[in-house]
Amino acid sequence: MSEHPVPVLSQEDVFNYDAYLFDADGTLWTHDEPIPGAIKFVQELISRNKKVFIITNNSSRSTRRYLQKVTRLGFPVEEKNIISPNTIIIDFCKRNPHFIRKGIYLIGNIGSKEALEEALDVECFGIGHDPMPDAAGEGFPSTITLEKEASCVVVGDDPHFSYLKLIKATNFLADPNCGFFIANEDATLPNDTYILPGTGCFAAALRTAVLPREPVLFGKPGEPMGRYLKNNLELNPEKTIMFGDRLDTDIKFGSVNGFDTCWVRTGTHSVNDVNRAIDGDDKSLVPMFTFSFTDVQ
Ligand SMILES: [Mg+2]
Repeated sequence: MSEHPVPVLSQEDVFNYDAYLFDADGTLWTHDEPIPGAIKFVQELISRNKKVFIITNNSSRSTRRYLQKVTRLGFPVEEKNIISPNTIIIDFCKRNPHFIRKGIYLIGNIGSKEALEEALDVECFGIGHDPMPDAAGEGFPSTITLEKEASCVVVGDDPHFSYLKLIKATNFLADPNCGFFIANEDATLPNDTYILPGTGCFAAALRTAVLPREPVLFGKPGEPMGRYLKNNLELNPEKTIMFGDRLDTDIKFGSVNGFDTCWVRTGTHSVNDVNRAIDGDDKSLVPMFTFSFTDVQ
């Protein structure tokens, strides 16, 4: 009996695809360490003229800056092969310019601001520390000032997320024409030493405040990212495979887009998580295969 809950992708079959999509942290690397065998596997794919893309939910830097990390780690990919929620937000806003007619209220960080402002002729405002007007911290402000106008609210990783930002975003979104965009709904961020709540926590707070409005989710497993890959990058789903360590983002993203899916055992989700998915109702969480890059001869 196999020690894994899903079949191992065989060495014969692993090169049968045209396009290979990889999650980043937990799949190709852990923090600043490449996963054993990952660089060699990506090199082998490129030498076989396969399409290779890194599909990250990290919106906290531009793809240009992300490439610096990818290159430093030793992966031979180009900027156009890195797809982040920013890539999809930028493409979407270019096609729907009314969302950038005014400004972008950004619950995010300097990296997201740089990425969006560099690609779109728009001002992103709202990042950084934004203290409550009542310095004593008692009660709620009698009034607040929305310094500028926003055509959309974008939610990403924000180490300065606050109640005042939630108030501001909620009031921008009271206008039904203001777009409600979320980079990802990840519950946690990759971190070794303690648990870091992720963008999903900020998104959930804002979602609750603006019910019944629904956001557009630009990262995995959201629809816009899959549509972008199929339409703009001309991926044939039947010849595409998604590798990832998380079931709720990577594997679900592959499943809902008709890609084959391969769970790697080097990140967040464990054998127990896969077994729970197998017994659960949402079959899009169940990977088709598992694989270790070190298995490639
Ligand atoms: Mg991951």
